[in-house]
Amino acid sequence: MTGAASAAELESLLMTRSLNDPELMAATDATPDKPILPDVSVIKVGGQSFIDRGREAVYPLVEEILEARRTHKLLIGTGGGTRARHAYSLAAELGLPTGVLSSVGSAVAGQNAQMLGYLMAQHGVPVVAGAGFDALALYLSEARAAIFAGMPPYDMWQPLPDEGVIPPYRTDAGCYLVAETYGCKNMIFVKDEDGLYTANPKNDPKATLIPEITVDELIERDLPDLVIERPVLELMRNARYVRSVQIVNGLKPGNLTRALAGEHVGTVITAGGKA
Ligand code: ADP
Ligand code: MG
Repeated sequence: MTGAASAAELESLLMTRSLNDPELMAATDATPDKPILPDVSVIKVGGQSFIDRGREAVYPLVEEILEARRTHKLLIGTGGGTRARHAYSLAAELGLPTGVLSSVGSAVAGQNAQMLGYLMAQHGVPVVAGAGFDALALYLSEARAAIFAGMPPYDMWQPLPDEGVIPPYRTDAGCYLVAETYGCKNMIFVKDEDGLYTANPKNDPKATLIPEITVDELIERDLPDLVIERPVLELMRNARYVRSVQIVNGLKPGNLTRALAGEHVGTVITAGGKA
């Protein structure tokens, strides 16, 4: 089928075919996209990499976010970090399944969102969760920013990992999916390293920064460890809107502001043209 499918064509396919039918899938692909919040930028504030560093790291970033809010509408997702890792280690040692670890980890990202919310409360920035997302457009037009817990609410429905019990879709994936669902302008991961390196720079002094790379190249390089969750790469391959993500070092003041302004700081990972 070429061009946009008419409503009648779509309906007829949807009523008569399986939802896996190739012609049906192609027809839903042919309709024009409608980005929901295309002027909003999503920022993920890392848990372990950022919030766990406390006041010294968090206060300057909060100031930078509040300043950036004058020129950008911002959706701020939070990571879990060390407390989530502690809970994962307890739960894993107790022999509990991925779905349980997922719910437990989600609570920690929620606590970080709450704490960030209290820090910005005075400036009218709300924390949203669950049904609160229905009012997101209002919050963003009134307060120009909103905070959410980055963990996707898969809870016990979390997809299973290839190995072990750690939930594969955690807060990087959750923030990314929010950006993609709302058709947002960009997705910036604020972490404690300058971007993606050839290896974890905390363990490998020879690791070098990769300023720019495609998803395909990155998957092909099969690096031992990554600065963002691996499933984000797979999500990017099928994305309609957020076909690149940026990783910046938020410990260096100004980096986030520059990234929001479209400057290339840190690492940019791109998905290339949609196949
Ligand atoms: P968050 O707290 O946002 O979830 P993580 O701690 O999970 O962040 O991930 C960021 C960390 O990933 C960095 O602090 C770094 O130590 C580590 N890391 C692992 N592999 C890499 C890599 N190839 N390049 C950069 N950092 C990496
Ligand atoms: Mg992480």
